[in-house]
Parts: sequence; C-alpha cells; structure tokens
Amino acid sequence: MSDHVNVVVYGSAGRMGQAVVRCILESPRARLACALVRPGSGLAGEPIERVFGAVPRNVDFSTSLDPDVPCDVLVDFSGPVVFDAALALAVERRAAFVSGTTGLREEQYAALERAAHAIPVLWSANFSLGVAMLMRAARRVAATLPDWDCDIVEVHHKRKEDAPSGTALALGRAIAEARGHALAERAVYARVGQTGARKAGEIGFAALRGGDIVGEHTVVFATDGERLEFTHRAGNREIFARGALAAAVWLAHREPGLYHFDEVLAPAE
Ligand code: NAD
Repeated sequence: MSDHVNVVVYGSAGRMGQAVVRCILESPRARLACALVRPGSGLAGEPIERVFGAVPRNVDFSTSLDPDVPCDVLVDFSGPVVFDAALALAVERRAAFVSGTTGLREEQYAALERAAHAIPVLWSANFSLGVAMLMRAARRVAATLPDWDCDIVEVHHKRKEDAPSGTALALGRAIAEARGHALAERAVYARVGQTGARKAGEIGFAALRGGDIVGEHTVVFATDGERLEFTHRAGNREIFARGALAAAVWLAHREPGLYHFDEVLAPAE
C-alpha cells in the first residue's frame, strides 16, 4: 500500500471541488489522482495547472475516470442531480466515498446506506470542525433542556439552490433525535399568516439568502426569561475542504460501512 492516498475529485471545477483540489495539492498525505469535470466542460483535457497554477502534476481535468488511474477514495462535491453517478463510480471502483453534496432526496440517503455494504462511505452536510462542535453542543443542550423552544436560522450566498441548508437539517435531526423524536414529526419549515401560537416541541427553520455569504448557522434555545444562542460563521470554503480531505485520508482503506464525520474528530467527552 502506498504512503499516499489517491484521491479522485468529482465536481473539481466547482467552488468546493476547487477548494478540495487545492488542499490535496498542499497535502503531504494525499495525491490528486484525477480531477473530474462535467461532460462538455471547457476544462476537459486541460492540465490542472490551468486553474491551480501549481507545479505540473501530470494530471488533466477529465470527464471520465480511466481504469488505470488508482482511486482509493472519491470525494464528491457535485450536486444532487449527478450525485448518483458519483456514488455509482465509487462502488464500481471499490473506492471509499466521501460526499458533501446537500439537497439529497430520501432515496439517495438510502442508496448511501446500501453502498456502505460494499465500500466505506462518509457523507456530511458540513465538514467544518466548528460545526461538528456546534452539533455536539446542540445535541447536549436539547437533551438537557427538553422543554426549551428551539429554532434554527441559516444564512447563505444568493446562489445556493436548496433550503433549509443541509447543515440546518442535520442540526434539526440531531436535536430531534436527542429528544427522542424524528425531525419530520417536529419540523416547521415556514411560518406565515395566522400560524397560531408556537406548539411545544416544534423545531422551526428560517433561511436567509444574499451576497457571497459562505454559511452561517444559529441554533436558538429559548424559554420564558432567557435565551441561549450558538452561532457558527464560516469565513471561507477551505474549512470544509480541509475537513473533507481529513475525512478522505481517514476513510481510505477502512472496512465497508457508514461512517460519520464526528468519528474523524477527537472523541466526544
Ligand atoms: P458548484 O455548482 O460550484 O459545483 C458543482 C460542480 O459539479 C460544478 O462545477 C459542475 O460543473 C460539476 N458537475 C456537474 N455535473 C458533473 C459531472 N457529471 N461530473 C463532474 N462534475 C460535474 O457548487 P458548490 O458550491 O461547489 O457546492 C457543491 C455541493 O456541495 C452543493 O450540494 C453544496 O450544498 C455542497 N456543499 C457542502 C459543504 C459541506 O461541508 N458538506 C460545504 C459547501 C458546499
């Protein structure tokens, strides 16, 4: 087994894909095996230096993965429409699969679980260390203060296509589960008009969109007379790319199964 983990990046011309490729090029542990772009992309066949300006690496942007190219792990930041093809490619190559694509449908989560019988799989709505800590804190407060009202507010750039964000949904799921419920029983995605008073146990969501905001999440716990807020603000995309690459290096060569980003981090107290 080589010292380097061979990483194939799916969606490598995208905002996140580029950030992941940059992290790989700087990493002593990972090697960029292939930078996949969509069919018809003007970058297809071009050397990666055209975008990344790094020293020549002998890797071109490509629309398909050559069978000779080694692939220990496939990192996917494409989008829900092409996610199925990315997962199928990882299964076909028996490669580990790390995905940060959000806006997935229920059947796509089910497909991740099925694939985990054959390959190691790690999907996370958010690969930032700070959000992983926010998730732990929210879970703990939700369980300790089960009667406090809880809402989640997220803010993202104007080009984001899904709402609420995958991270807001993951926070909602963690909070609902910490209180012994499924999110679907508790979630309120919009409040408009004569909504009536807030129902006990609701988890409300609000999504704001504008400018180039990378991503902000606030979990609000409130009761009569006091309010507790936890906010995470992402300043750039590198934080997600670094986390995804750490997950990729950690996941490569593991046994098939469904893993969580929290496991890549320090153990919970
Ligand atoms: P983007 O639109 O900039 O990038 C997606 C890329 O995928 C595009 O370059 C597109 O051309 C490419 N693509 C489309 N079809 C393809 C194909 N068949 N083969 C290869 N590439 C193909 O989007 P983005 O802002 O980079 O976000 C991508 C996804 O990552 C979204 O779902 C977003 O919500 C998610 N995201 C997750 C995290 C996280 O930490 N989990 C953080 C940020 C964004």
